Order: sequence, then structure tokens, then C-alpha cells
Amino acid sequence: MSVIDEVKQKIDIVEVIGEYVSLTKAGRTFRALCPFHSEKHPSFFVYPEQQSWHCFGACNSGGDIFSFIMKKQSIDFGDALRLLAQKTGVTISSKFEPEAEERERLYQANQAAAQYFHNLLLNSPAAEKARSYVASRGFSSKTITDFQLGFSLPSFEALKKYLLDRGYTESELQDAGLIVEGEGGRTHDRFRNKLMFPIHDARGRITGFGARVLDDSLPKYINSPQTPIFDKSSSLYGINLAQTAIRQQTLAVIVEGYMDVITAHQNGFTNVVASMGTSVTEKQVSILKRLTQNMALALDADAAGEEASLRCVGYENILNTEVKVIILPKEKDPDDVIKQDVKIWQHLLEEALPVIDYTFNMITSKLDLTTAKGKSSAVDKLLPIVAEIKNNTRRDHYLTKLSGLTGTSYRNLETALSRIKPDRRTSEPRPEAMARALQPLRSSPVEEYCLALLLQHPELKGSSESILPEYFENSENREIFIAWQKTNDLSSLREELDPTIWEHLDYLITKSLPANQIEQKYADYALRLREKFLRNLEAKRGEALALEVESGGTGADLAKLEEQGIGVSVQLGEAEVKRDSLLKKAGRERWQRR
Ligand SMILES: [Zn+2]
Repeated sequence: MSVIDEVKQKIDIVEVIGEYVSLTKAGRTFRALCPFHSEKHPSFFVYPEQQSWHCFGACNSGGDIFSFIMKKQSIDFGDALRLLAQKTGVTISSKFEPEAEERERLYQANQAAAQYFHNLLLNSPAAEKARSYVASRGFSSKTITDFQLGFSLPSFEALKKYLLDRGYTESELQDAGLIVEGEGGRTHDRFRNKLMFPIHDARGRITGFGARVLDDSLPKYINSPQTPIFDKSSSLYGINLAQTAIRQQTLAVIVEGYMDVITAHQNGFTNVVASMGTSVTEKQVSILKRLTQNMALALDADAAGEEASLRCVGYENILNTEVKVIILPKEKDPDDVIKQDVKIWQHLLEEALPVIDYTFNMITSKLDLTTAKGKSSAVDKLLPIVAEIKNNTRRDHYLTKLSGLTGTSYRNLETALSRIKPDRRTSEPRPEAMARALQPLRSSPVEEYCLALLLQHPELKGSSESILPEYFENSENREIFIAWQKTNDLSSLREELDPTIWEHLDYLITKSLPANQIEQKYADYALRLREKFLRNLEAKRGEALALEVESGGTGADLAKLEEQGIGVSVQLGEAEVKRDSLLKKAGRERWQRR
């Protein structure tokens, strides 16, 4: 039995979720106020028989215990499994955890270093200048503690000696990026005479440090290097303190610097994180996506050009929703703006425009749209940006807008667009508000069969059968499917996955399958998978509706549940029609073979 199965077998979803929310028994289910969105009327359900959960409210999503923990703690599958394994006393064999222990030592070394730096900032006579600098920025002592700000002594050996005395080895400190090798192979402290900013991950572990000089020397900031636990492109400064607010306010605000985050938080804007001084990366957006779909990016007016817009469209495609931009006054950063007047920042937040609308305004304001030249210039600049939008509805919205602005017919723009992106029109539309669903305790043969077919037959990659990750109710299958979508061969697929899933992956890769009529079988199973998902969702919704009626729920709640139900039945109907035609086709072929 795999570790994943072992954990599933030992865990009781009601018990685990009950540690996070207060569950009330309702018929065969348990219900609660949803922990992922704010609500007054409970629309979050836990299904003990299926060991699954679903929120019929704003989230309209669900899953198994792994997906609950992943969402609640903002961690990936591997970390969720480790957490639940620990809870249930299941040991994860070290073959899946080649470096776990070493990584843990690095987190601990960072934690010890942060504590050391923090104490120095608060108490050391050598930190006088750092203290007055921090005071000049207006940071309160609560802020200094919350962000665990620190000071590194102007010494080559201070931290190294402190940590060696505490049992860390020189090579561990080097791996953590805390010391560096100098001339003659001798190592010394990396951070000296600097204001220290510990960088945490979403789980609150310290992955690295940012450090600022206390005079005018350059560079102003240095960071930890890339280490086994620190990767700048997937770090978000302040995420540990911001995640609750981001989820509650369903909005993440992204700024550039440490100071911006700290000042924002101190002034009550606690949903703010920083991209670590670089442009936002896809990895950072993917981390935020676990907390909210909505993102607003603070941009310098000068930096907000077409290139930045294109990048933002990339983020929109990941989030499947629009990204807003907060345009900062010239040569000001959020730190300046908030300090000058909180109301100005508040106003900028309220005025934030969807990035494409902003780009339209920015480009067309410089053109004379009454002239042919102005019109064609607007099309030339804006069409390539619109072409990058993957969501059909949003792309059409902006094509229509561009058509209105320039007087070019929609049809002409569409033709020009398909020239930019020849594959555009054939891409499958993604059902918009598709519910995500749950997880059975038992392994799911349909899920496994579909996945095994996909893994063993690369030629199916181009198949028109569209499967969504949501259809996989078991998180481990869902993880493999998502990785399969992103990669082209088995070895890079393996790299995408947490090592704890490799055993399950191997099982699927070696599962014995029939040798012929692969495409037909896949089409059949893909459809079965979809139907299973929809039926399951329908059953849960029905149960929720019945409870709602019984308990005299409000009209709005009932209407919402019913509305969701209509969407699901329409899709179920479509799936059945398709299945009929598949069956007929198979029957015809059998007949012809006779
Ligand atoms: Zn919810």
C-alpha cells in the first residue's frame, strides 16, 4: 500500500477539518461556515462517507483531505502529505525524502540566525545606527517584532561562530547561504553591518534573507543566494503575514520592496506582499492562486508599458481572471504614498483598473483615433496583447472594444488575430465556473484508467477529449494530471511531482492496458470520468439543497444552489448525448467488421 493510501486509510476527514472549523452534524453530512471565504450562512459541507468536502458558496469547489490542507495551509501536495502523515503516525520512507532532513537543518539554521539578528537589533550597542534608521522609517516595535527585523554585526565571523557553537556545520551554513567562501578558501559571514529582513514561506519557515545597507553605499540591498530552500523567483516577501488577509479580502496586492510591505502592513493593509524587487514570476502567481484569484499589481507609471501589460496577461491566464494595476505617482513607491497619506493609497486601490483597460487608455490617449494612422497604430499595438488572452469571453470583450474604438469591423480584427495566433480558434473553451470536486477513500478505477492511458500513450496528448483537473477527485491523480498537462515526457513529468507521488506514478505507468482501439477507449473513459464528476457533484448539491429546505434556508441560498444545479444538469445532459453517439459509433464499427 502506498503512503498516500495509508494516510487516507488512517485519517478521518471530519476529525481533521474539525480542527480548523466548527462542524455541525446535518443528516449524513457535517456543515460549517466556509473557512475559505467569509459568509454568514454555512455553505461548507463535509461528507464522511466519501471523505470529501465541498463549498457551495463563493468558492464552489471541493476535494479530498489533501486538497483541504493544501488550500488551508497554502502548501503543496507533498507538504500536505507530510503533515497528515505526521498526524497519523505514518512514516514516509526516506527514499521519497532524500533531502528532507538536510533541508530541515537549513530552515533551523536560518531560524537561529534570524533570532540572533533580531536580538542584536533590539539590544546590541553596535546596532545603534540600525535602530535609528528603523525609527526614521517610522516602524513600530510591534512591526519590528512581526517582521522579525534584525541587524548583522560588522564582523566576518560573528554569525558563523554563533551557529558553529550551536552545532551547525560549516557546510550547512554554506548551503543555507549564511556564509561564503572568501580568498584562500576561508569562509566568512555573508551579511555584515546590514539591516536584516528574514524571508518566510507560506508555512512561516525562514527560507532566506534580504539585507539593506545602512549608508549610501551600493548595492542598497543584497539577498540570500539560491539555496536548496531559497529561490527568489518563488518567494513572496510577507506571504506568512499576508495570507489570511489575502484570503479574507479575496485580493492580493503585489508591491516591489520590503519597505513597501512593512509600511503597508503597519497601516492596516495586510494583504500586501512583495515580488522581491523583480517583475512578478509565474511561480509567485501560482503561489497566490492558492489564496485568491484576484491580484492587483502596484506599478510605476514609467514601468507600465506594453511589455508589462503582456506579462500581466500571462498572470491573468494563470489565474483565469483579470489582473488589476495600481498606477503609482511618478517616482513614488507605495511606502512613500502610504506615509504621505493613507487615503491616497486607498484611493489608488479603489481606482485600480484591469490591466488591459489601463493599456487601452494608455495607448489610445497618445493617438488621434480620428485619423487612419491613429487607428491602425492602435490596432498594431493592442491586438498582440489581446491575442495573448486565453479566456474566450474576455478576449472577445476586448476585440469588441478595439473594434468600437477604431471603427475596424470585429470580423477583420478577428482575422488579423488568427494570423497572430493561428491555433487560437481551435483551442477548447474552458467551462467557466466549473465546480471542483471531492475524493473517495477507495481508489478510483475510472480516474486511474484515464491517467494510465494518457501516461502510456503520448499520442493522446492532442486528443480533443477535454478533461479538467477537477474531474480527478483523488488529489494524487489530480497532481499527476496537472503535471502531465505541463510536460512532454515522463522524466520531466516526474520532476514536476513531489517524490511522494512517484510510487503512484510508477503504478500507473506500468498498469496493464488493452493494446488496441486506444483512442476510442480513451474517449469512452474520459467521458465516464466527466460523468462521474458531475453525478457526484449533483448528488452533493441535492443533499445540500434538501438540508437547506429542511432548515428553512433563505430564498437566495436556495436560488443559488438551484442555479448551480441547472449548470450541472445541462453539462450532464451534454455528456449523455455524447456518450450515446459514441456507443452508436462503436456499434456501427462492430457491425461493419462482421
Ligand atoms: Zn467557501
